[in-house]
Amino acid sequence: QKVQMAGAREERILVVVRLRPLSDKEIVANEVADWECINDSTILYRNTLREGSTYPSTYTFDRVFRGDCSTKQVYEEGAREIALSVVSGINSSIFAYGQTSSGKTYTMTGITEYTVADIFDYINRHEERAFVLKFCAIEIYNEAIRDLLSSDNTQLRLRDDPERGTIVEKVTEELLRDWNHLKELLAICEAQRRIGETSLNERSSRSHQIIRLTIESSAREFLGKENSTTLAASVSFVDLAGSERASQALSTGARLKEGCHINRSLLTLSTVVRKLSKSRQGHINYRDSKLTRILQPCLGGNARTAIICTLSPARSHVEQTRNTLLFACCAK
Ligand code: ADP
Ligand code: MG
Repeated sequence: QKVQMAGAREERILVVVRLRPLSDKEIVANEVADWECINDSTILYRNTLREGSTYPSTYTFDRVFRGDCSTKQVYEEGAREIALSVVSGINSSIFAYGQTSSGKTYTMTGITEYTVADIFDYINRHEERAFVLKFCAIEIYNEAIRDLLSSDNTQLRLRDDPERGTIVEKVTEELLRDWNHLKELLAICEAQRRIGETSLNERSSRSHQIIRLTIESSAREFLGKENSTTLAASVSFVDLAGSERASQALSTGARLKEGCHINRSLLTLSTVVRKLSKSRQGHINYRDSKLTRILQPCLGGNARTAIICTLSPARSHVEQTRNTLLFACCAK
């Protein structure tokens, strides 16, 4: 028998911004960094003279992380509490949103690793409970779902289960043994993402990767007895397609349609997040894309969500950086 945590929560989505440093390549190319974090919550655009005054020059969020902040710090202050709510039976999701090469994968990989380390630490400190930790990983590419733990390239299907909601049929679930096992699984996922593409960047700019950890636990003294209850929840780590895939449609207010520059899942997520940030009630169009269908249990209701918006400081990326900040403002 499974129980879910009861009680309505009216939590906002946590929105944090991470500015990466200029890369060596950008420095060699004489790129200029136009963005700067002036304190823990404000980011400043320094080149307003050139742009004119049509845009704001400062943006404020729950937390902004400077280029020299470590991923550990981003995890501790921007994701840990939300990710670890999974051990109390609360679903959660951590997203990385930003243009290609802004640092989404760099950030999400680290956060996934720190979370798993903390979960194992928690498990070791709570011997009165028995835990089962499961890992699965999928990719959504052109609205087709693939299993990143399987070399079988067939498309996975979604099914609506009356009890568990939307489930990904036949997805590989691994029992996670320890932290080294996680590293092995992440390596398999990465290798799987490279297959069939000449450039990993090209593929990752168009596809979403979801890693989901599910934890089930029950008190050892009740194991196998009638009054035993199992706490079950999952945390999803979502490395989104490059935001440049949606910004064009968002900025022109274009209707949702397929096209090489428009990513249905990314657009739907933007609308869902905007609605959730205003109210958790009312109709929310989760069913409009594969990504939002899969993530529905980790988004509304009791679930907790953090969005990490990653930014490049480079002058040549200013337009995409502003689009990411606009999305971040809508989400908070
Ligand atoms: P994305 O997944 O958004 O396309 P990546 O995570 O692949 O971007 O990052 C692009 C490059 O920048 C990678 O080489 C990565 O190692 C580097 N990078 C990203 N964020 C940081 C950071 N905060 N500090 C140092 N290097 C970073
Ligand atoms: Mg990436």
